[in-house]
Amino acid sequence: MGSWLSCSLLELSSVVLLAGGVQMDGLCRASDFLILPGFIDFIADEVDLTSALTRKITLKTPLISSPMDTVTEADMAIAMALMGGIGFIHHNCTPEFQANEVRKVKKFEQGFITDPVVLSPAHTVGDVLEAKLRHGFSGIPITETGTMGSKLVGIVTSRDIDFLAEKDHTTLLSEVMTPRIELVVAPSGVTLKEANEILQRSKKGKLPIVNDRDELVAIIARTDLKKNRDYPLASKDSHKQLLCGAAVGTREDDKYRLDLLTQAGADVIVLDSSQGNSVYQIAMVHYMKQKYPHLQVIGGNVVTAAQAKNLIDAGVDGLRVGMGCGSICITQEVMACGRPQGTAVYKVAEYARRFGVPVIADGGIQTVGHVVKALALGASTVMMGSLLAATTEAPGEYFFSDGVRLKKYRGMGSLDAMEKSSSSQKRYFSEGDKVKIAQGVSGSIQDKGSIQKFVPYLIAGIQHGCQDIGARSLSVLRSMMYSGELKFEKRTMSAQIEGGVHGLHSYEKRLY
Ligand code: IMP
Repeated sequence: MGSWLSCSLLELSSVVLLAGGVQMDGLCRASDFLILPGFIDFIADEVDLTSALTRKITLKTPLISSPMDTVTEADMAIAMALMGGIGFIHHNCTPEFQANEVRKVKKFEQGFITDPVVLSPAHTVGDVLEAKLRHGFSGIPITETGTMGSKLVGIVTSRDIDFLAEKDHTTLLSEVMTPRIELVVAPSGVTLKEANEILQRSKKGKLPIVNDRDELVAIIARTDLKKNRDYPLASKDSHKQLLCGAAVGTREDDKYRLDLLTQAGADVIVLDSSQGNSVYQIAMVHYMKQKYPHLQVIGGNVVTAAQAKNLIDAGVDGLRVGMGCGSICITQEVMACGRPQGTAVYKVAEYARRFGVPVIADGGIQTVGHVVKALALGASTVMMGSLLAATTEAPGEYFFSDGVRLKKYRGMGSLDAMEKSSSSQKRYFSEGDKVKIAQGVSGSIQDKGSIQKFVPYLIAGIQHGCQDIGARSLSVLRSMMYSGELKFEKRTMSAQIEGGVHGLHSYEKRLY
């Protein structure tokens, strides 16, 4: 074997450049190389995955959900933040809808439901049955106006309506509800622990939380009691609220969107563009930094140091790296632009670190091994679309096709997404065009269950990868790479086949 087969990343990079004879720079996609194992003197559980998202925000888990309309709305962003990562709310929607999703994340309190179904005394038993059909539960708080924030006047549970005959569906809730005077409630400000104790003592299914004007601010469900686990890694701000990111474009009307998002409490904004090195983005970074000096701003997407330079000079706090590597992406095919993701991450991270700007490896992450490789190439965090799509927390309803339970997953540059709103077109500089050029596809992914199980698997997988390499933390991993201690080895096509499952008649691949 030639000595170049096992070398530091820099050597490997230059070998490939020389070997090609031309400046093709085609170092690597994630499958083209492996990392050689190091020395283990610690347990995997001890590996510290703390890593920077931006200059000022650090996460305990280097995992991010992508601002795509089939990946991140409030449910996903809450779950990601609880497990130490962060979610970026997509902007293929009205500014008001997006800001409200951010608000839900920022107001989230473990166990407290702040946007339950609420009805008024003037609603009917039929309305309760309909809500039960749609949402699958029956303890519904009743307020004067039928909305949160209005005076609590009662609650309707299945016990109140179970014995009513069919014709009674028009009965008003004021006649059947358990009135306020008979309810056990808790005052706002109560801790989850205290609220759970009250619920246990009262033996009720729901505990309404009211403020000092007796207005409903939240409820706690008995069925959630067991789910109220601890999240020691949770990403929180100084007020102990979950961190939340959001995406905006770079056009004039995005300034209004930005205002709503900051009012809703967004901690970090990503400028969502497939090619971030533009006058529009540079102008928007200047505007944001001047209007909201404390807001963390991530620029992108970029794949070269030259692109990164312009955005770093403009003042970004983080960079999103990737062009053409997403699972739903046809940019490289259609636009002839892009870069293999391994090379892009390495080149941009290597440049950006000189200015203290962390890099997000965005797109193309298919396995936990890909996450480890992205981090070993210099990324501080990774952003995922397909890996988190079709989970319980992803937006959209499940549907069946050929007996398989699926959820939709689509590129934000797919015609499907661009037809929904102009925000998606802006990402691809396509609004106002007579002919829309699709840069993504629309498809579906099999049900993956909740990310509450999947993300812990990713976390443990990254820790084991680092352990094999001999890196106790992600910062050690990166410094091993830059010092040349970390050895990479190119993988030929036959080595890739050898590295996969082979020679079996059939097998089942269960990952966790
Ligand atoms: P995945 O994790 O491989 O599915 O890639 C997700 C990433 O693909 C996103 O975070 C975006 O950067 C990128 N992306 C999203 N939509 C499109 C598209 O329509 N075309 C190209 N890239 C896209």
